[in-house]
Amino acid sequence: MKLYEFQGKALFRKYGIPVPEGYVVRSPDEIKEVKGDVVLKAQVLVGGRGKAGGIKFASDVEEARKKAEELLNMEIKGTKVQYVLVEEKLDIAGELYLSIILDRSARRPLIMASGEGGVEIESVPDEKIFKMHVDPVAGAHPFMGRVLSRKLGLDGQKAKEFTSMLLALYRLFSEYDAELVEINPLVITGDGHLVAADSKVIVDTDSLYRHPDLERNWEDATPLERKAMERGYAFVELDGDVGVIANGAGLTMATLDALLLHGIKPRNFLDLGGTDNVEVTKNAFQLLLEADPKVIFVNIFGGVTKCSTVAQGIIAARDAFSIEKPIVVRLSGVHEEEGRAMLREAGIEAFGEMMPAIEAVAKALREVK
Ligand code: GDP
Ligand code: MN
Repeated sequence: MKLYEFQGKALFRKYGIPVPEGYVVRSPDEIKEVKGDVVLKAQVLVGGRGKAGGIKFASDVEEARKKAEELLNMEIKGTKVQYVLVEEKLDIAGELYLSIILDRSARRPLIMASGEGGVEIESVPDEKIFKMHVDPVAGAHPFMGRVLSRKLGLDGQKAKEFTSMLLALYRLFSEYDAELVEINPLVITGDGHLVAADSKVIVDTDSLYRHPDLERNWEDATPLERKAMERGYAFVELDGDVGVIANGAGLTMATLDALLLHGIKPRNFLDLGGTDNVEVTKNAFQLLLEADPKVIFVNIFGGVTKCSTVAQGIIAARDAFSIEKPIVVRLSGVHEEEGRAMLREAGIEAFGEMMPAIEAVAKALREVK
């Protein structure tokens, strides 16, 4: 999950990383007074905001309100601006780059620093980016800050500030289960101090249960997808006819592919996950019904999740939600025969193989259309 700049900066502040003074507004009249020059920054979760005109400057209240209004009426790469960050304008003498990412191929965090800040890092030549892996057990150490400072040409007080910033950023990175923390630009002010002028933080979505303090930013998601996420399901709305419930991301994707190969459009992606619980299946149906599919297809490979448990969940859902739409089920794996027998007894079509099941879905769809 991506954090907004102002949310990332709140975390920076919490970890002692210097950030400009500022606050967020949702409407221009929330700007009460302006001392000195300010910068107004549209808060969006997409990159390249500066270039898209999402950053403006002002030197009095009236101008600040006018610019904030302009920003709040803007759309940047398809997303409407809902917040504007109002900050003291920094006196910029230099712009650096500093980030920590999770380097999956090295299986450890990677620190990246560059003297070429304020531009997209993708456009900086590789030899101008200084990289250092961190052993996740040992953590970050002050020598890393000193080594990188020297490469960046920082000495004295600036090197000290850079080092404590790096250590704080690493602590934030690991304590918040981040996939990326980025300061671009890391500004050197006119009076020689280091300040994080921008923030980009991406937190591993699967770790969110450990971070109840983080507000959820789900604006890319539809209301139903949001509801599904809150209930712990991986769910994506699509625009077809057949509601899909499967288990495991791989099998769920394969199910969508198989349907599409037969010219059938799925209504959604719904991965049950890996628990052996009747309620999980039943509640998945409740979500799916809100998407109003014409036919429901359940495709399960039983393992930890037993086919018999899923069968119980399907029957419980049909009875609890009085489902009259056709339900086609394919059960394979642990307790498959038991599961299929339970379904057939309850009058629900059940298969062991994928293809006959898909054909049954096609037939059911022709009949309801
Ligand atoms: P981004 O384009 O969305 O990454 O937005 P940034 O917050 O990184 O700002 C882009 C650029 O705007 C920076 O590299 C600066 O050149 C400029 N900028 C942002 N804040 C300030 C500020 O407080 N003072 C000055 N002088 N320039 C700023
Ligand atoms: Mn930036």
